[in-house]
Amino acid sequence: MDGQHSSRFTVTRSSKTVAANERAALLEDPGFGRLFTDHMVTIRYTEGKGWHSHSVGPREPFQIDPACAVLHYAQEIFEGMKAYRLADGSIAMFRPEENARRFAQSAERLAMPEIPEDLFLEAVAELVKIDADWIPSGEGSLYLRPFLFASEAFLGVRPSKEYIFCVIASPAGAYFKGGKKAVTLWVSEHYTRAARGGTGAAKCGGNYAASLVAQKEATEQGCDQVVFLDAAENKWVEELGGMNVFFVMEDGSIVTPPLTGTILPGITRNSIITLARAKGHDVREEPYSFAQWRADAASGALREAFACGTAAVVTAIGTVRSKDGDFTIGNGDGGLVTESLRGELTGIQRGTVADPAGWVHI
Ligand code: PMP
Repeated sequence: MDGQHSSRFTVTRSSKTVAANERAALLEDPGFGRLFTDHMVTIRYTEGKGWHSHSVGPREPFQIDPACAVLHYAQEIFEGMKAYRLADGSIAMFRPEENARRFAQSAERLAMPEIPEDLFLEAVAELVKIDADWIPSGEGSLYLRPFLFASEAFLGVRPSKEYIFCVIASPAGAYFKGGKKAVTLWVSEHYTRAARGGTGAAKCGGNYAASLVAQKEATEQGCDQVVFLDAAENKWVEELGGMNVFFVMEDGSIVTPPLTGTILPGITRNSIITLARAKGHDVREEPYSFAQWRADAASGALREAFACGTAAVVTAIGTVRSKDGDFTIGNGDGGLVTESLRGELTGIQRGTVADPAGWVHI
């Protein structure tokens, strides 16, 4: 179907697709973020011309100029979303329009053009369609990575006049090695992630670049993830390197840090709030300090804590490590509330639990 037009996209099938038996072997243990499918979607943007050159084609390297703006000033945003293979063979996506909306908000913060929501969704759907054979069955999923970067060759500091939007896909298994039941966190008290007025609520590459040294510290401390505190007072819990955080109290109420512009408004976070409220939990979006966390874990007022995000879904937090020592939440292995919210969310995503709010798109 070379050069065929599918809607507004020109579709060119790769002549070097991975053979079916080789693909099946790779999908047995996909890991996370290291395997890629055969194709990619690209759309160009030029100031004055708008979005153009919509293409579905073989996955291949970009040719970019050494003066390409993104390489110097990091004008780049991205999204992370998943496609699932349901038991009946159909393909489902979870709240993809929320990713489209957040992508537009990230673009606005980074002074980039906003890709229309329908075009974003169409681009993602085109890639899922052409690379559908790469969706693992069972527990796995196809992780989709839409991103947009400044591609103009120009060294002045101002918004680029040219951009490339691209979607790639990566078959995924468990995010944490060994599909762990509970993770260990390192509290970064030296490095912060985002300040008021900064880019914390945008999904831009720069936020992650700034978090890596703290994540490296966490790894050196034998922890799975870093947890950041607020930049102003170094007191309030914000989020993890790539996940939002929830606290389950002994009275069944649930606390999660509020969206004040310094944390990413997670789609999983939003879904968990809705599901927990429907189950009768009092969910409060309010500041929770690290000192309170430690005290509540010690007194038993805190029963469970969990992290959530597209990649890691819902993962219990077992032990928290800081320069002042460790503490453990509950028995260190999660709990019933975490377990039931995870079960419900993954059930909805996989089509085994009724979809309460039209979240699943087939
Ligand atoms: N916080 C950060 C910093 C993240 O990178 C992510 C992953 N996108 C999340 C939270 C969770 O967001 P979502 O539930 O939309 O994946």
